[in-house]
Amino acid sequence: MKEASDCKLEGACDGPINLFNLQVAPDLLSACIHCGLCLPACPTYLATGHESQSPRGRIYAVMKSQGGQVERALDHLSTCLGCLGCQTACPSGVQYESILEQVRPALAARRSWPARTAMRLFFRLLGNYGLLRLLFIPVRFVQRLSLDRLPEVLVRLCPFLKGTWLGRLASWRQFTPAVPVHKSLPARLAGQGAEKPVPVQFFQGCVMDIFYNQVNHAAMKALAGAGLTCNLPRQTCCGALAFHAGDVDIARQLAKENMAHFENLGGEIVVASAGCGAMLKGYEHLFAEGEPERARAAQFSRRVKDFSQVMASHLPPQPQKRESGAKEAPRVAYHAACHLAHAQGVRAEPEAVLNRLAAEGCLKRVPLADAEHCCGSAGIYNLLNTELSLQVLEAKMDSLQASGAEVVVTANPGCLLQLEAGVRARGLNVKVKHLAELCRD
Ligand code: SF4
Ligand code: SF4
Repeated sequence: MKEASDCKLEGACDGPINLFNLQVAPDLLSACIHCGLCLPACPTYLATGHESQSPRGRIYAVMKSQGGQVERALDHLSTCLGCLGCQTACPSGVQYESILEQVRPALAARRSWPARTAMRLFFRLLGNYGLLRLLFIPVRFVQRLSLDRLPEVLVRLCPFLKGTWLGRLASWRQFTPAVPVHKSLPARLAGQGAEKPVPVQFFQGCVMDIFYNQVNHAAMKALAGAGLTCNLPRQTCCGALAFHAGDVDIARQLAKENMAHFENLGGEIVVASAGCGAMLKGYEHLFAEGEPERARAAQFSRRVKDFSQVMASHLPPQPQKRESGAKEAPRVAYHAACHLAHAQGVRAEPEAVLNRLAAEGCLKRVPLADAEHCCGSAGIYNLLNTELSLQVLEAKMDSLQASGAEVVVTANPGCLLQLEAGVRARGLNVKVKHLAELCRD
């Protein structure tokens, strides 16, 4: 492993660093003092033990890229989860998220044009909820008939296919949960028990509503139960997957559409998907200083709240003991989604909601070691870097198994499907749930 003192960085930050047509601001890089305190917080470093797979190593590689080692820098950055565990751990305030934002379009430009075109089509499709639902109907039938096992069977019969697109398709199956029958969300759910229910606007998300439609239903019911009138306005994909893949133009377009949909509607915008929440809260950064959308985006983002934030601020003053029957309360561990803890800084609120549920006798809390370490899902990272994603997931599964939990709770659809994959692979008797599913009952 390279030591911090080995990094000869003099002169590396004299001017903006150009990765293809990108400028990485030198002050973002020079903020790093190479102390290495971020290393124990980096799941890819922990999984591989390689400095090049650590935040410090990646920052160093970007600095060195000025000397012509661009490909090497992009190699190291392409395996970064973007979990921002390093940003939380860094005592020098290195804005790792900003560095990543400036590098991602260069990573996208490196993909082959068929891959790039397919991804762009997919990101555009995510914005069309009606078409997306329609397309997932045959997927459900393919799953029911177990035809989704076909690539796996073919690869097993013909091992030389492993390195082809078919091999890749076979490995993706483990991350695809059974697509449920889609039930439309109510356009409005009146708040209960409050004299004057507060209106909120619900943001459903694309991946969440396709794979975890029941979570959105549970979230709307829980919000209504807490006395909030929950409205479902017209909306589109938040743009997070496109943005993280470097397709900033698509993300900007989706952001403009969402801002137009929500602009004239009052109240907070509540979202149960941490990935969407982080993106919606960061819309301002999609627009440069002076662009008219920037101020609108800032206004929009101020209204966005995670489900746990809203629930925590509407908890009754005292715990209300609930009838649990003869059943013993399940042991519940909490996995903090990176996009909630690191990207949004939302930590106390999900804890408060879970503690309240524990005080009401609905569950028993058990600690999860390294609860804020990424599970390896990271948007479409598990599809693009499957092997490393699974290595990262192993560590999470070790912690989960050691916790003795019967239920693991989280706040993001990506984490839900990744944790489900891990639980299935190990054959654990652990349920994977969203916080909203615990609040509903
Ligand atoms: S990113 Fe922060 S914690 Fe990591 S080496 Fe640089 S200064 Fe230290
Ligand atoms: S974002 Fe996550 S994976 Fe990437 S360098 Fe930071 S801690 Fe490591």
